[in-house]
Amino acid sequence: MNLELKTIAAMIAIYCRAHHGARSEPCAECAELLDYAASRVAKCPFGVDKPVCNQCEVHCYAPEKRARVQEVMRYAGPRMPTRHPVLAIRHLIRSKRYMGTRSK
Ligand SMILES: [Zn+2]
Repeated sequence: MNLELKTIAAMIAIYCRAHHGARSEPCAECAELLDYAASRVAKCPFGVDKPVCNQCEVHCYAPEKRARVQEVMRYAGPRMPTRHPVLAIRHLIRSKRYMGTRSK
């Protein structure tokens, strides 16, 4: 699984557990959102070198899905370091690297 997708999956799991009472699997609504994210990541023109999605210049999510993903990220983002330290750190490194190349 792509790292970006792993991060999104982890965030959706945290969000769903807190908001929808999911246990091991996310609820149908969140599973659908994850499926959608997976299809977008698979079609991303940046491929493996893509920047992390929240900084991506190609806004490939439909507005309604984008709003839901943003809500998930707003909630789960700050909680990632305690739940998934490795993913959170790698996500941060990738974000920084991208911002670095952009400011050149
Ligand atoms: Zn849910």
